[in-house]
Amino acid sequence: MAAIDLLRARFFDHFDGEPQFFRAPGRVNLIGEHTDYNDGFVMPAALEYEAQAAAACRSGRLIRIHSLKNGETAEFDLDAESPEPRGDWTDYAFGVAVMLEAAGHRLAGADIVISSTVPVGAGLSSSAALEVVVGYALLSLSGHAVDTVELAKICQKAENEYVGMRCGIMDQFISCNGVSDHALMIDCRSLDRKPVPIDPAARIVVANSMVHHALADGEYNKRRQSCEEGVRLLRPALGDIAALRDVSFEDLEENRDFLPDLTYRRCRHIVTENERVLQAADMLLGGDLAAFGRLMNASHVSMRDDYEISCEEIDILVDIAQAQNGVYGARMTGGGFGGSVVALVESDAVAAFIESVGAAYRDATGHISEIFACTPQDGVGRLTD
Ligand code: ADP
Ligand code: MG
Repeated sequence: MAAIDLLRARFFDHFDGEPQFFRAPGRVNLIGEHTDYNDGFVMPAALEYEAQAAAACRSGRLIRIHSLKNGETAEFDLDAESPEPRGDWTDYAFGVAVMLEAAGHRLAGADIVISSTVPVGAGLSSSAALEVVVGYALLSLSGHAVDTVELAKICQKAENEYVGMRCGIMDQFISCNGVSDHALMIDCRSLDRKPVPIDPAARIVVANSMVHHALADGEYNKRRQSCEEGVRLLRPALGDIAALRDVSFEDLEENRDFLPDLTYRRCRHIVTENERVLQAADMLLGGDLAAFGRLMNASHVSMRDDYEISCEEIDILVDIAQAQNGVYGARMTGGGFGGSVVALVESDAVAAFIESVGAAYRDATGHISEIFACTPQDGVGRLTD
């Protein structure tokens, strides 16, 4: 059965009415990690793994949502006086409704069934895919035109203020604005974006480590604090800087004595990572895949040693990936402390890569890695057969 027919059948298990269908992708980030909340540069691509929604208007101002992932159904009253987050998955969906209304988009009531192939907590942004598909569905059902840049900002606001995760804009932005067969170089300050084609001689390959260490959220917020501290301590020397985006490597080196060592290393990751993203875009556009791969490898070293967001299993998986034939480069992707590794691999070498990385990682850790080659997809839209 086609995806839409399956989703329609699941919708009728729970709700009535004739649903419309929507999709929003997860993402893999090729390079530029933790730079988004420093007003910097990132280069993600949207994945074939996506959240899908079947959604229909209902009279009144109630939103009812059912997730096929966990079998749970929840309700939300758009007219509730001061809605409180519930501390569970529904905050991603209802938070988007709250922020859409706060931005002046009056919403109709809706019944929504969510299906998602994005693995949860694998560093591939199942949360943004959920937010974006719900936001797009609610706007569409209510008859509003969708501005995908504004939708990305609203979904980020929902995750920041309703879920309580201080993420940057990358995940929501790429889920909204992905371009098929391209990575997207995003300036997270101006939100300018440039599609960068992936040379057909190479494939993006993602390997899920299948581990996710619980300290991720707390450590994420600590990294943000270190970056803010760095900006504060560098400001007397560098003048009116708003974010680490405004600090060059030379600026940082000249003024490192103003920073405690840990803060210095956190800042060094961000400052060098921003430079790597800019270079990486040039390398991909110029067809220099080997140089692009070296930047990916350098990014991993910087995340591992300076930003300290990797973990043992990920380092093992990266080492294994980098040692394969036909690999240009490999690095951890996503927030860190587990999740996935992304590699750029010669197209002809992909099948052998998947097999031998899987076997070596299982031998080294006992974990069965899910490894797949991806073809970048378009951002959010209607789901068609
Ligand atoms: P990720 O890297 O996958 O985005 P997060 O911790 O940011 O990891 O988000 C994962 C959370 O998003 C899940 O714990 C769950 O609350 C919510 N989520 C994502 N997809 C779904 C879904 N299809 N159904 C219900 N909840 C989901
Ligand atoms: Mg997330």
